Amino acid sequence: MSSIIQLLPDHVANQIAAGEVVQRPASVVKELLENAVDAKATDIKLIVKDAGKSLVQVVDNGIGMNVTDARLCFERHATSKIRHAEDLFSIHTKGFRGEALASIAAIAHVEMKTRQAEDELGTHIIIEGSKFIAQDPAVVPKGTSFAIKNLFFNIPARRNFLKSEHIEFRHVMDEFQRVALAHPGIHFTLIHNGSETFNLPISNQRQRIVNLFAGKTNEKLVPVQETTEIVSVQGFIGKPEFAKKNKGEQFFFVNDRYIRSSYLHHAVLSAYEGLLKEGMQPSYFIYLDVPPHTIDINIHPTKTEIKFDDEQALYAILRAAVKHSLGQFNVAPVLDFER
Ligand code: ADP
Ligand code: MG
Repeated sequence: MSSIIQLLPDHVANQIAAGEVVQRPASVVKELLENAVDAKATDIKLIVKDAGKSLVQVVDNGIGMNVTDARLCFERHATSKIRHAEDLFSIHTKGFRGEALASIAAIAHVEMKTRQAEDELGTHIIIEGSKFIAQDPAVVPKGTSFAIKNLFFNIPARRNFLKSEHIEFRHVMDEFQRVALAHPGIHFTLIHNGSETFNLPISNQRQRIVNLFAGKTNEKLVPVQETTEIVSVQGFIGKPEFAKKNKGEQFFFVNDRYIRSSYLHHAVLSAYEGLLKEGMQPSYFIYLDVPPHTIDINIHPTKTEIKFDDEQALYAILRAAVKHSLGQFNVAPVLDFER
């Protein structure tokens, strides 16, 4: 019998990979914002229409790309961020899989403009469903702009699966907030349907949190700080009296990357023991710095889950640090007054 196995053409492979990387407009937001951060931008604009269903555009003033890279960036496994397998154990960038742009370009209409500071002319590229439609030299600002339109144009099932504008915009905001919180040293702007939703000046962690969540955030926060050999913990936690019924603002960052961890969440909650009324949730903004070789980021395509070498030690250090702050700032138990 003749053999029946074939290698899939690139555009099909890209479309399959896209299924994992791009769930909704917010996934595009995350990937483009992270690329802008990796490009060392100090000013990043996110422009969104119809919660990203019609347009997601990210404009940065970062290092840009030369004409060769401008085309190459849309290939799968094309990355400037790692070169060797061992680099996977010392990741200092948000990206490294070289997958996002290839995936996005496989399932959307993409227009890119990019220029490096030293070049007079930049590059303008249009790519739709992995097909290059145009590539021209162009007069463009330094940095890079990606505009993504018609997301899922060739995957109707995915497109139909998108939720209401309200819900999709919530997801977009979540991604925007996570990146903005991780990088207070970058000026971020978010424009939705033509109006400015956020304009976050360059600042420090505390000010960035306050700028994002406004209200009385500042007086609600208590600093956390602890440095050991395996981790440096810093950030802010909410005073118990400001705890909320729903999971409020709860953020972990590891080496400037937003991550989810039910294990570390438990460490924080347990430090609040006796200080919270039943079912109430504290806010926290906790930044962990660990040596890159002690974590594995490559366990999920979106990289929001990571593996730590010594999770138990981290748990204990984090719990102690939070407990210490709560004690230091004279946070008295509130339970007894209520009974
Ligand atoms: P990764 O971020 O994992 O490397 P991507 O597909 O997101 O993969 O991007 C591929 C490459 O394109 C990056 O490694 C980078 O060299 C280049 N690139 C992407 N976005 C930008 C940008 N905003 N500015 C400069 N270069 C970029
Ligand atoms: Mg990337």
